Amino acid sequence: MAAGRQLGSVRRLVVKVGSGLVTDASAGADAVRIETLASEIAAVRADREVVLVTSGAIVTGMARLALEKRPRSIPEKQAAAAVGQSALMWHYEAAFKRHGIHVGQVLLTGQDIADRTRYLNARNTLVALLRFGVLPIVNENDTVAVDEIKVGDNDNLSAHVAALIDADLLVLLTDVAGLYSGDPAQDPTATKLDTVEAVTDDILRLVWSHTGGTAVGGMATKLAAAQKATASGVPMIIASGEDRGALARMLAGEPVGTYFPPRADRLAARKRWIAFAVPPQGRITVDAGACRALVRDGKSLLPSGLVAVDGDFVAGDVVAVVAAERPAAGPERPAAEFARGLVNFDADELRLIRGAKTRDIEARLGYRSVDEVIHRDNLVIL
Ligand code: GLU
Repeated sequence: MAAGRQLGSVRRLVVKVGSGLVTDASAGADAVRIETLASEIAAVRADREVVLVTSGAIVTGMARLALEKRPRSIPEKQAAAAVGQSALMWHYEAAFKRHGIHVGQVLLTGQDIADRTRYLNARNTLVALLRFGVLPIVNENDTVAVDEIKVGDNDNLSAHVAALIDADLLVLLTDVAGLYSGDPAQDPTATKLDTVEAVTDDILRLVWSHTGGTAVGGMATKLAAAQKATASGVPMIIASGEDRGALARMLAGEPVGTYFPPRADRLAARKRWIAFAVPPQGRITVDAGACRALVRDGKSLLPSGLVAVDGDFVAGDVVAVVAAERPAAGPERPAAEFARGLVNFDADELRLIRGAKTRDIEARLGYRSVDEVIHRDNLVIL
């Protein structure tokens, strides 16, 4: 059913393509497929702004360097990415030039998204490129991104980019037609889901049961991307990149792929940043009463509900809030994390005031401070 898809007014979209669609393991960047992609994008771009997020740097670099196996060491992978990224861009340059479209390369890391100033800089640059009529082509900056500062996969990167530029739609083009009710390779009765209203634990289980939780760019990262995009008010579609004309047809309202509608309670930009952009620096565990007060009553978090404090964070950091007793949640979230927020105290201070009544905070700390561990305005329920 196509009901509920409101794509008539999409003016700005982010299209993400996986390595498999634009590269060939032995030849590297695949000129023919990149040309096809360029035509598909050019066709929908006449009256819209498009940002392309592409993978394939490492695979392309491996082919250029005649590496038969994916390098194991990080510097070698980064070297392959450096070689591959410029080769990949060369192909995109050539392909889009045929359509009279200029491209601009934008390489980002997790840090560029986690740091508020760099986040705003990245947004300003992307918006300036769009104003110039340029097609920004984004990838992770693999040559400098080691684990600590990585987004790690381009599905999640594309969701960040979509939120960053307030896109009207995020499209993940992949090698399957959408999200299936089972593993189509093993279960002939598995059907493609047309719409996923919410990425619930049941939907997450569907994916984890048949990816084993390993594949980068598999469905698990796509669902994590869907959570980020839809929470930011950006609808998302997973569709096949092999299906010619899919992009134009989905924008014309056809029920192509699997659609994830935007969440009605769209998070404000600041809260989005708290929820998704910054990796939590620590974890605080709260009791059932505090959990209820936060989730149901919309209250701030007070020290009295605090049960445990993990990590070495400082005031102003983002921390994960977990419930003392609650069954494990989805794969992307550590078990039972239900909220994130900007904390008002250092970890050591919180250990001193854990469980304290508001009136006892000053005595325990030895100085006067705020009452809230996390103020409501800086708290996001996930
Ligand atoms: N940035 C990587 C590359 O271009 C790919 C990451 C991904 O596919 O998710 O090789």
